[in-house]
Amino acid sequence: MTAVLETRNATRRYGQDVTALCDVSLRIDEGEFVAILGPSGSGKSTLLNIMGTLDRPTEGQVWIGGHEVTSMSDRHLSALRGRWLGFVFQQFHLTDGLTATENVATGLLYAGVHRRHRHARALAALDRVGLAHRARHHPHQLSGGERQRVAIARALVNRPALVLADEPTGALDTATGRAVLDLLVQLNAEGTTIAVITHDRDIAAALPRRVELRDGRVITDTGRCPS
Ligand code: ADP
Ligand code: MG
Repeated sequence: MTAVLETRNATRRYGQDVTALCDVSLRIDEGEFVAILGPSGSGKSTLLNIMGTLDRPTEGQVWIGGHEVTSMSDRHLSALRGRWLGFVFQQFHLTDGLTATENVATGLLYAGVHRRHRHARALAALDRVGLAHRARHHPHQLSGGERQRVAIARALVNRPALVLADEPTGALDTATGRAVLDLLVQLNAEGTTIAVITHDRDIAAALPRRVELRDGRVITDTGRCPS
């Protein structure tokens, strides 16, 4: 198995008093679908941000595709992020002045893909999430579930090694949230490696690997045997 991402003894402190993440060692292999669970404030977003190189651990290391990233410059990090990772957030983060296709194409801006090819790649990604028929719509003309599908297409368009999603169903009603999770499951079955934070225990129960956090520590990891 090839590790796509690994944290080694990652700790993140804020000032003297807050330890948001404590000594987390987590390895994600190619093809996995990992659910990250835990109550509010348990360190889920901190972990995902550190995995996604959006934040750096105070102690410990992060390896992505064989590169140790915590000592990289910001410029190298954004290049690595653009190549290896795709992000999905609770609040979609789409740009209202752009069509669905244009929003998805922004996922290729830093990938060195020629303008001519960006549009076609974006359309193909929209098709993968079942939204080809909404390609020219603007975000305000789309439902919440459709917006999140556009955001997922944007995360996928550069064929990242790993998609990181922070409560992608958190702003959606239950049925729509389930449909979005089903889409992620389908994308995983097609080969995309995914780590998703969810507070929906029913959803999580159906996923192959669950990592549970409490007070910044991993208390359960169903995917790997303790060493
Ligand atoms: P979760 O996503 O599980 O709700 P977070 O990772 O957002 O939890 O937060 C974990 C802990 O770290 C919480 O106690 C939170 O208050 C604290 N925390 C997060 N970000 C900051 C920050 N920028 N400054 C201080 N404390 C923070
Ligand atoms: Mg959070």
